[in-house]
Amino acid sequence: MLPTKTLDLNILFNQLKSNDINVYNRAMTAQLTKNFKLKEFLVYRTRSQIRQYFTLTHLKNTFRLALQVQEIRTRLGRPIRITSGWRDIKTNVRVGGAINSLHLTAEAVDFVVEGLTPKQVQDWLHPWWTGGLGYGTTFTHLDIRPYYARFGYG
Ligand SMILES: [Zn+2]
Repeated sequence: MLPTKTLDLNILFNQLKSNDINVYNRAMTAQLTKNFKLKEFLVYRTRSQIRQYFTLTHLKNTFRLALQVQEIRTRLGRPIRITSGWRDIKTNVRVGGAINSLHLTAEAVDFVVEGLTPKQVQDWLHPWWTGGLGYGTTFTHLDIRPYYARFGYG
């Protein structure tokens, strides 16, 4: 059984690591929050990468992150498309991520918002977001570090 009312991250983690592809697929489509499924935070990651490198701590961080992204989704009232979530180390190197990137710990997302430019999203987040905010030109980076940070790319 998949967790229903209360999301049991230990159970979900075991399902994600299951040898049974159907169990894995169901774990990936598990609803983390009202508008977000687990697979959205693991976008572009292969089952092999997840099996080898995705830890229970990563899943716990993903859930904390999802709650925050849901809050933003709710406040905005617009769909959010995550373009990068958790990355294994090799992927992070390949995409030119920072060596201490919070994508490695599953505490960061890059995303776009339907109907808004990244600049509009960043201008809206800046006054109140207390964690990390990255000013991409084609995306917004957001992370749940426990302190205020603002930065650009390139
Ligand atoms: Zn990022």
